[in-house]
Amino acid sequence: MNIIFFGQQGAGKGQYAQHFGKYGFAHISTGELLREEAKNKTKIGRKIEKTMNEGKLVLDDIVADVLKRKIEGCEKFILDGYPRNMKQTELLEKILEHLGRKIDLAVNFVVSDETSLERLGSRRTCSICGWVCNLKNIPPKVSGKCDECGGMLYQREDDKPEAIKKRIKLYKKEIKPVLDFYRKILVEVGADRGHEEVIKDIEEIIRKCATKEQLS
Ligand code: AMP
Repeated sequence: MNIIFFGQQGAGKGQYAQHFGKYGFAHISTGELLREEAKNKTKIGRKIEKTMNEGKLVLDDIVADVLKRKIEGCEKFILDGYPRNMKQTELLEKILEHLGRKIDLAVNFVVSDETSLERLGSRRTCSICGWVCNLKNIPPKVSGKCDECGGMLYQREDDKPEAIKKRIKLYKKEIKPVLDFYRKILVEVGADRGHEEVIKDIEEIIRKCATKEQLS
């Protein structure tokens, strides 16, 4: 079973995808994959880093290439941050068709812009393993340190207010036709609520979808 998590910045889809790793889903975050590439200070890595710091989208072909390599090695996955526009949707469908696979479920986490700005402003990321936390809702056990590996937590350049506003505007414009494309398998979940409530809803949605898959 393969799933896409949609949601504007700060909806929490990354943390929910991280959570569902315990059910054996690989969490594929294109943002994380690109940050990894950016760490390699190659020509392409530096280009990616510059684009990300400006709050802009990385070129579709670059993202598709990184993504394809990752999907090939995963048995079942949750996609987080991809696809973000129609060109990426077409590229994803091509990659999946080539691998004889498909998307079974799409979940859209819906939040207000106010929630997005507030949550991203207090989001911190581990400089070593990419673990993500929120200083207000899910703070780290030790201040400034990653719960998973003890690495130093930092605020991403693109989580600063001006970059966030730019990212939300771009996201809304480009995601609309993508959500239409997946409407037959799309479920909306209100994500302005607490973490536990949202998790319960997603568990139920995934359970129903898995049962339907087994019956068909
Ligand atoms: P995220 O971690 O999903 O918030 O993504 C952080 C940044 O990574 C974005 O602002 C983009 O610069 C880049 N990025 C992530 N996913 C994509 C994508 N599907 N297409 C293009 N750029 C992406």
